[in-house]
Amino acid sequence: MKVFAPCFECTFSSNPRFESQLVDYFDDGVAFATCSVGHKFAVIVQTQKFEILLNSGAAALLEGFTLEACASFSAALERFYEFFIRISARSRKISTDLFDEMFKTMAQQSERQFGAFLMLYLLEFNEPYKENPKIRTFRNKVIHKGEIPQNDKSAEFCSWVYDEINKVYQKMLEKGDNFSLREATMEMIVSRRKNIPNGMSVATASEAGIFPLSHKDQKSSFSEALEDFRKSREMLRRTVIDPFPVGRHDHSEQK
Ligand SMILES: [Zn+2]
Repeated sequence: MKVFAPCFECTFSSNPRFESQLVDYFDDGVAFATCSVGHKFAVIVQTQKFEILLNSGAAALLEGFTLEACASFSAALERFYEFFIRISARSRKISTDLFDEMFKTMAQQSERQFGAFLMLYLLEFNEPYKENPKIRTFRNKVIHKGEIPQNDKSAEFCSWVYDEINKVYQKMLEKGDNFSLREATMEMIVSRRKNIPNGMSVATASEAGIFPLSHKDQKSSFSEALEDFRKSREMLRRTVIDPFPVGRHDHSEQK
């Protein structure tokens, strides 16, 4: 995945200059960059794991990689369930350490996580969660049997997942402060910061994602969200003034 990484030291110097790169980041949600002057800095991606996976899937879908799009959306849904149970546990005053200790016993088994989600959803909203059965059937064909879906089928699957996440997330927003969504973001930043060497300058960046939690502007339809995502990616590409156009971006600054 790539994040937009302008050098703030250059931008806000007495002789300001603007350059920016699209820098790779991976599972730890941190990108490391060096500008052409030599400033080294880190960018913390202020985006939950399920959002990152949705963005990755949406990018794959736009490029015509249908299997990859479905795999990413499928993983995004599972990580969204995890996000929900984490947030719900927090709203019940369960500490992160305690939650992490419990989560170890379900981390490798998505069915256990889904079970926890079903129960917590019932407790939060006083109604049973109704799963869209088409998601499971389609996912089994694609993820477990390796069937490569056609473009329209792939887009349809992604829209089911998007609708599912959006439906639950809007209910979470309705409950407002109970879910401490702002705290969840702060905690994510603190945890990602641990991956950055002491003394390195740090910026945070939120992606113009397909389902941006930070902007509270989730589109109600997937096709609308995908179109917005496509436009924002194009705009971002035009904004980049890359000092290393042949690619000297790496993720090795932390080593
Ligand atoms: Zn610089």
